[in-house]
Amino acid sequence: SSGSAGTSGTRFDLEKETELRFEVEAGERVQLELLSGLAEVFGSELNRNKRYTFGPGSKIAVFTWQGCSVSLSGKTEVAYISKDTPMLLYLNTHAALEQMRRQAEKDHERGPRVMVVGPTDVGKSTVCRVLLNYAVRLGRRPTLVELDVGQSNVSVPGTMSALCIERPADVEEGFSVQAPLVFHFGSTTPGTNIKLYNKLTSSLAEVFSQRCEVNRKASVGGCIINTCGWVKGSGYQALVHCASAFQVDVVIVLDQERLYNELKRDLPHFVRVVLLPKSGGVVERSKDCRRESRDEKIREYFYGFRGTSFYPHAFDVRFSDVRIYKIGAPSIPDSCLPLGMSQDDTQLKLVPVSPGRDLTHHVLSVSSVDDDAEVGAGQSRGILESPVCGFIVVTAVDTQAQVMTVLSPAPRPLPRHTLLIMDIRFIDLK
Ligand code: ADP
Repeated sequence: SSGSAGTSGTRFDLEKETELRFEVEAGERVQLELLSGLAEVFGSELNRNKRYTFGPGSKIAVFTWQGCSVSLSGKTEVAYISKDTPMLLYLNTHAALEQMRRQAEKDHERGPRVMVVGPTDVGKSTVCRVLLNYAVRLGRRPTLVELDVGQSNVSVPGTMSALCIERPADVEEGFSVQAPLVFHFGSTTPGTNIKLYNKLTSSLAEVFSQRCEVNRKASVGGCIINTCGWVKGSGYQALVHCASAFQVDVVIVLDQERLYNELKRDLPHFVRVVLLPKSGGVVERSKDCRRESRDEKIREYFYGFRGTSFYPHAFDVRFSDVRIYKIGAPSIPDSCLPLGMSQDDTQLKLVPVSPGRDLTHHVLSVSSVDDDAEVGAGQSRGILESPVCGFIVVTAVDTQAQVMTVLSPAPRPLPRHTLLIMDIRFIDLK
């Protein structure tokens, strides 16, 4: 039931185990306030009498276990209450994972490693967020592993990362991303360089396992792995690879029975594969919509998120002061490969990029690799496996003067001089 909230906005009264779903219109903002009862947004509890603001295009569900009243003000594209939500199934899944953590604690074992899979737009990220929130609310310290290079919840697009979760996600901003471990992938789909994708998955698994060896809470907390929506061919193989690299115990398949059956067939029998329905509230996003949210992620990296503004710096970088690489040479027919070289080598090869006008607008990762590290044939390992310490965008190139102007979160000089180019461009309109 809905009606006027009097002072401002529309009041919605929700019965227990129902959710209010709304979408914010383009160019608009919507404010949400909890008037009475208890409610949560994707597993983060709402505070009473606090106004939460959601920006254009946000798609939100306010769920209540006990019943509540909320008010919405601003222009929503849709706003309706649904009684039909899979939240109870998600809560049961959380309870089963928590049981595994308790067992792990008792037996001095490691906690559950969970991989969430499914096609695009089935709510994978949302399920990860709910499970992580419920775990951290019980005092656990789970790790979010973000393998979705198209829509990362941790860093800019084109990266693969891991983040230790220490508090519930902020209702408006999501998980706080202090000190994530980020690797450069360079494009928004794993298919661009599947060898590199699998290699970085292994690197993340290795780092996570090492952390678990020295940090008991991280080990018991386990991890929740968010994956890409590409579930066929090499995309499917990448999921199988990930399951083995992380030695996952549980795979949650959202919405697709075929994928569920394939994984049941192909993963070792001790891996529990569960099929869960997607929420009717998950909204399909168009290509444009996805591109916009990628852009927004990059803008946030440089300019901050609404409340907290950052002031990025612009400065010139001399070509001679940096070395720029692209990872992966274009693939060539096997018969043309130099003797003793395999296709793997070409995909993981560092190819020097000579700076030119076509660098303009590209996002570059600043590698944390030692500036003095030798880079030659066969020595790309150090760079591939070094995390990224930040990102810059090339805003202009002057070939005559041999300099490029960059947008950077920190003032000059660059912290390191090895740069990795992404396929991804960002046009700075500020
Ligand atoms: P995936 O990771 O599978 O691509 P997401 O978890 O990102 O999917 O969900 C897609 C969109 O749907 C997101 O904008 C998310 O906020 C929204 N969404 C998810 N669950 C709900 C829900 N129950 N009601 C309304 N919107 C939802």
